[in-house]
Parts: sequence; structure tokens; C-alpha cells
Amino acid sequence: MVSIKAPRGVRDILPEESWKWAFVLKTASEVAQDFNYREVHLPIFEQTELFARGVGDTTDIVEKEMYTFEDRGGRSLTLRPELSASMVRAYLENRMDQRPQPVKLWSAGPMFRYERPQKGRYRQFWQLDFEAIGSQDPYVDVEVIALSVELFRRLGMKGLDVVINSVGCPMCRPVHKEALQSFLKPHLSELCPTCQDRYNRNPLRILDCKNPTCRAITDNAPDTISYLCPECKEHFEGLKAGLDALGLHYSIDNRLVRGLDYYTKTAYEVLSGELGAQNAVCGGGRYDNLAEAIGGKHTPGVGFAAGLERIVLTMEQQGCSFGKEPALEVFVVAVGDIERKEALKLMHEFRKAGISADMDFNGKSFRAQLKVANQMGAPIVCILGEEELKAGKVSIKDMETGQQVEVPLEEGVPFVRTKLGE
Ligand code: ATP
Ligand code: MG
Repeated sequence: MVSIKAPRGVRDILPEESWKWAFVLKTASEVAQDFNYREVHLPIFEQTELFARGVGDTTDIVEKEMYTFEDRGGRSLTLRPELSASMVRAYLENRMDQRPQPVKLWSAGPMFRYERPQKGRYRQFWQLDFEAIGSQDPYVDVEVIALSVELFRRLGMKGLDVVINSVGCPMCRPVHKEALQSFLKPHLSELCPTCQDRYNRNPLRILDCKNPTCRAITDNAPDTISYLCPECKEHFEGLKAGLDALGLHYSIDNRLVRGLDYYTKTAYEVLSGELGAQNAVCGGGRYDNLAEAIGGKHTPGVGFAAGLERIVLTMEQQGCSFGKEPALEVFVVAVGDIERKEALKLMHEFRKAGISADMDFNGKSFRAQLKVANQMGAPIVCILGEEELKAGKVSIKDMETGQQVEVPLEEGVPFVRTKLGE
């Protein structure tokens, strides 16, 4: 036992779980290929300014969730809390505006947020992130939503709800903000302290407060959709028409909003009843003003991020298949120096032939080795005893039936391959 434990809010993903992750990641890469999204690997830390920007610095992430530190060169760096900003940074920095638009990218990896750990909420967690940068077309929003739904469909997840909204743009938002503030004004003292604080700097976020009193007050509050400018309205209509054309079910949630100014138009989430309070499997939408916010030229974009832990959690609770669990196929048993050297060679032949093989490395007795083979779940055991070696043979034992046959040593690999194929 070690006395140093992993930090609060992080988890070790052990072999019993990691193969499930690999299945989700493989499926994601297949869906990415079918939708023509290409994989990128981006830095885990970025300059702090990328995430903490001048305008609208008022969401939870920016306010209190970031892991920020100073490196030895005195630079302020931040462990990425999300991928969209890095994606847009990489797009701008690598002049991807020169490529056919939109540029479609995806990535998977750990994100870091200083949050209160609970079920489905960690301080280091993985996201699958898909972004389409360089087009305003509402059909790209449709594609992004369809991609996430298709991913979840291939993973066998059921009972998911797609909720959409439009948060408008800098043209329509001020009008809505004013209407919302005058609606809320008479109730200001009844709002929770966080929302009282939000009233002036970010009233939109009051709409998604989980506090029951705040929710009751905002039940009939002005929604963003009623205040959309003609352009945003047309975009929202295009989004709905595209989703309808694909037969994708959705509902409109007026409370689905975003805290930062650079988020525009489409906001969406996919929810799973299995997850309890942390019910969002993925969240996404449009961020047409993000590129400008980080100092680049105006570049529209849309995307989503899905939490890998929450996907796996939902799949486990729904009894979804993760494909075939990797398993050991052959265990080679031998006692004694000469026999062990032959066993080492035979094991290597199995491995080169693509058959998963292992042997004892702890000087265990014959019986103890058989026991280990059994514990490891090897369906076949190859025995190289003194007798077998003298005859140039190997005994092959079927662990399920207990049957044992002797074959010439050089026929061991093809024999086992045939047996495994049965
Ligand atoms: P939530 O409301 O659950 O905090 P969010 O709006 O902060 O979600 P996004 O920033 O949109 O989430 O991230 C996209 C997805 O990443 C979420 O839908 C969720 O699946 C996952 N996610 C977000 N924060 C965490 C976390 N702390 N631990 C595990 N998964 C997370
Ligand atoms: Mg959050």
C-alpha cells in the first residue's frame, strides 16, 4: 500500500475499464471517418489567455474551474478545461483557413476542471470533441448534432434526448437581456445569491440555474428564441428543417444557454436519464465569435464535446456491448531451465502469429502455473515437460474440457490457431 494517493477528483482507469474506453474511442474514430472529420492531437496546456478572455469572462469555467499555474519561465499556463478554444487556436495558427471550408476536426483526451467531485463529475475527465470551423451553414449544425446521435446509436445507447436552443448573437442578445432584466427586477431579492450576482453581469445564466426558487421565477421569463434577429431566426429555422429532414428527434429547451459572449445561435445537449444530476452526455453549439475573441479573424464554428466517463457510465447502466474484451489465449507451462527456455521460444512464436500468449515469470511450480493460467482465463495451456521435450512435442490442454493432446512442437502454433478458430 502506498500512502500517497491520487489527487481528489481524479480516477485511475484500470484494465477492467480501459478496454471499454478503447471501444468507445474506436467507434468515435469510425464515425469521424464516415462524417469526414480528421483527428488532431492538441496540447494539454495552453497560454491562460486562450481560456480567460476580456469579454464575458463570467462562466463557471473561467471564474473558478481552471487549473492555472506559472511555469519556470514565468508564463501563466492553464490545463485545458475544454477543447473548442484550442481547436480554433490551432486552426488560426496553422492557417487552416487556406483549406476547403469548413475544416472538420476531432480529438479525444483529458480535460481539467476544478469542480466538486461527484458521480459523473471529475477534475480530470476525458472528452471526445468534434468541431467544424469555417462555415455558417445551419446544415453544419445539423451534421454536428447528427454525428453525436450516430455515435451514441452505434454505441447502443438508448433513451437519449436531444435538446436544442438558439442563444442568438450580439445583434439580438442585448434586446433579450434588457427584457430579461426588467422581467427579473421585481424578483431580484428572491433569487439565489449566485443569480443575484448574475443579474447585472450575466442574466442569461439565471435561466439555467438549478435552484427551485430561481426556476419557478424564470418559468415564464422571456426566452432567447422570441428575440432572435432575422439572421439568427433564419438560421434556427434551417437547423430545425435539417434535423426534421434527417428524422432526428429533438425538443426545444429555452433554459439551455451559454455563459460566454462568443457563443452564438445553436446550443444543444444530449441527455441521458441514466446519469442522474449530471445528465448531459454531450454539449455543443455554435461559437461564431470565438476566433475573434482570441485575436483571429472572424471565423464561424460549431461543435460538441462528449464526456467519455458519462458515455461509459450510461452504456454500463444500459447493458450495452463494448465488443470483445481482450483476453489471453494461451498460457505456456514449463518447469526447469531447459524447458523454460523452450517455453519462452514457443510463447514468442505464438505472439508473432498474433495469438495472445503468456508464461510464468515467478518460478512457480507446475501446479501453481496451471492455477495462474486458470486465473488468467487462458482457454488453452501448452505444457512443455521433460517427456514432451525429449520427444520434440508439446502437450496442448483444453482448459474447458480438460482434454489434452500431444502434437509435434513445430505444429503447436498452427494446431492452437485451428483450435481457437473453432
Ligand atoms: P455540466 O453541466 O454537466 O457541468 P458542462 O456544460 O460544464 O456540463 P461542457 O463544458 O459542455 O459541459 O462539456 C461537455 C461534456 O463534457 C458534458 O456534457 C459532460 O458529458 C462532460 N463533462 C463536463 N464536465 C465534466 C466533469 N467535471 N466530469 C466529467 N465529465 C464532464
Ligand atoms: Mg460544468
